[in-house]
Amino acid sequence: MAKAVIVFGPPGSGKGTQAVLLADSLRVPHISTGDIFRRRVEAGDQLGRELQAIMRAGKLAPDELVNRIVEERLGKPDCAGGFILDGYPRTREQAQVLSGWLNGRGMEQVVVNLLVDYNVIVGRISARRSCPRCGAAYNLISNPPKDGGVCDRDGSPLKTREDDQEAVVRKRFQAYEQQTLPLLDHFRSSGSRFYEVDGNQGAPEWIAGRISGLIKQE
Ligand code: AMP
Repeated sequence: MAKAVIVFGPPGSGKGTQAVLLADSLRVPHISTGDIFRRRVEAGDQLGRELQAIMRAGKLAPDELVNRIVEERLGKPDCAGGFILDGYPRTREQAQVLSGWLNGRGMEQVVVNLLVDYNVIVGRISARRSCPRCGAAYNLISNPPKDGGVCDRDGSPLKTREDDQEAVVRKRFQAYEQQTLPLLDHFRSSGSRFYEVDGNQGAPEWIAGRISGLIKQE
């Protein structure tokens, strides 16, 4: 059965890094709503400007908009054999829409919750850099670019995400605790496969290996 793997956890828990590694090892697309939105911001159209204001404030985009964008993406042929979701769902409403969509297509939902201590997260976020062109994610300590401050894939100068500034990170945590964390209860009680993985220590590849082992079980 095709699987929808939800990589879940607070901002800075390593969702993006894990999602990329898992997508590679399971050979399915990586779908990050944050990346989709950042591309819209780069496009600079009306929707991009609205999203930029929301992201700069550390708030969540409206469910209706997020669900529409995700459904459009999941409907593409490359998603038919499964996919990795990173940063979605983030609210109960999103989780319900996703469950309905997956049920309608006979796909299995697998949730992986990354457990990472707050002080580890704060350290990671301050070392985080990304490529404004291709979206590749780096960490100056655990996953540095090969060549100083430029992207390994396309040589673009790396940037700090605008919403990784301290004041915004605090707001993103608030949004996570108030709107996203309650989803854990929903996942636990909805009967979907649910795993918790310690993401504090170990190379990202090692953590991803453990996660893909769990996903491939059963
Ligand atoms: P991320 O890269 O996943 O941390 O997402 C960056 C920002 O995009 C978030 O702080 C939100 O403003 C917005 N965003 C991403 N995914 C969602 C979502 N599923 N629901 C609402 N807003 C989202």
